[in-house]
Amino acid sequence: MSEPSIFTRILDGEIPGEILLETDDVFAIRDINPQAPLHVLVIPKSEQFRDVTELAAGDPALLAKLVAAAKRIADDHANGEYRLIFNNGASVAQSVFHVHAHVLGNLEENKLVG
Ligand code: 5GP
Repeated sequence: MSEPSIFTRILDGEIPGEILLETDDVFAIRDINPQAPLHVLVIPKSEQFRDVTELAAGDPALLAKLVAAAKRIADDHANGEYRLIFNNGASVAQSVFHVHAHVLGNLEENKLVG
């Protein structure tokens, strides 16, 4: 069996991390290297899916729960509005192959990138 992902280790309390939300299926942590005033990762507890393409095909209901959790994060920590980013593949900067959504909020300028 493969090693737990960095995110699972945070959820399990093995390494530090600020858990902002936890449900039966998903959890949310602050990104250690924030790219926006609000930068939170929303993650399924299951490590079954490597990226959002697999998640959408394999468990669309879980993807919907991920999006609902992103909205809750934005409601609680921003103004209810949020940018959702999924990196899918190493060549577009995915580094953790346990699917996760980047939730960005409180952006100072309305730029597409950054
Ligand atoms: P990816 O590049 O795979 O889409 O995103 C992985 C994200 O995980 C990165 O934004 C990175 O900053 C974040 N990250 C990596 N290691 C840790 C960690 O130990 N704790 C937290 N909170 N975030 C991490």
